[in-house]
Amino acid sequence: MWPKGIRCAVCLTFDFDAESLYLGYMERLRFEGDRRQFAQTLTPISRGQYGTKVGIVRVLRFLEKHAIPGTFFVPGLTADLYPDTVREIARQGHELANHGYYHENPTEFIGDLEKETSILRRANDTLERLCGVRPVGYRSPGWDLNPYTPEILLKEGMLYDSSLMDQEKPYLLFEEEKSKLIELPIDWLLDDYVHFQFSPPSIPGLSAPSKVLEIWRGEFEGYLEDGGCFTLTMHPQVIGRSHRMQMLDQLVRYMKEKPGVWFATCGDVARHWADRD
Ligand SMILES: [Zn+2]
Repeated sequence: MWPKGIRCAVCLTFDFDAESLYLGYMERLRFEGDRRQFAQTLTPISRGQYGTKVGIVRVLRFLEKHAIPGTFFVPGLTADLYPDTVREIARQGHELANHGYYHENPTEFIGDLEKETSILRRANDTLERLCGVRPVGYRSPGWDLNPYTPEILLKEGMLYDSSLMDQEKPYLLFEEEKSKLIELPIDWLLDDYVHFQFSPPSIPGLSAPSKVLEIWRGEFEGYLEDGGCFTLTMHPQVIGRSHRMQMLDQLVRYMKEKPGVWFATCGDVARHWADRD
């Protein structure tokens, strides 16, 4: 299933949302004629900016220290607002992947293929213009796909998606004329946002890092045992707090002690899986 000597894959992924989460939300409210103003105020937006000012610096330093490649799902808006940071991510050898332009949720325009395609292209164009490489991976900003999304992704030349939750191993999601779209499943349990990010009224967040370490380490042991692809979803504005980075360091050290763990980008795992199939 995996390359020789490998027991499981580990993908450390970072959704570099920055302000897009909040500005995208504001755009939606405006579109819906909702006149609430709270998403336009400075503090919610600054929560995203923490990721660009503090979080991303720590994340890049951490990956460099451990010599691990990361996968960064970057909204086009983040790339346009922070071109130097995004170029630096690519320069350090990490993968850049598509996360919409304005952090759009594809379930909000089901059946509008033109709109969905144009958003996907705009985000790909932005990252390619900045870094010279066209992304091959997509993660839905809403962690949800509409029924047309896999076909659109394949038509636009994407190799993988990472938004579904039905397995612990990669699999073939969609295929057409020898082109393959591989799925790299995720899960809320393996997402820093729900554990840590205080977002009233729905997400209490603010978990102790020790609790999250216990959960992630236990899950990792299962993936190692069963030969899965342990895809951790993190956000620089969330995991980038000092105490949480210490926890991530402990987790990665623990993983490195185990033989047969492949720290890979999502693109590398997807390519391996597509070739294997
Ligand atoms: Zn996101």
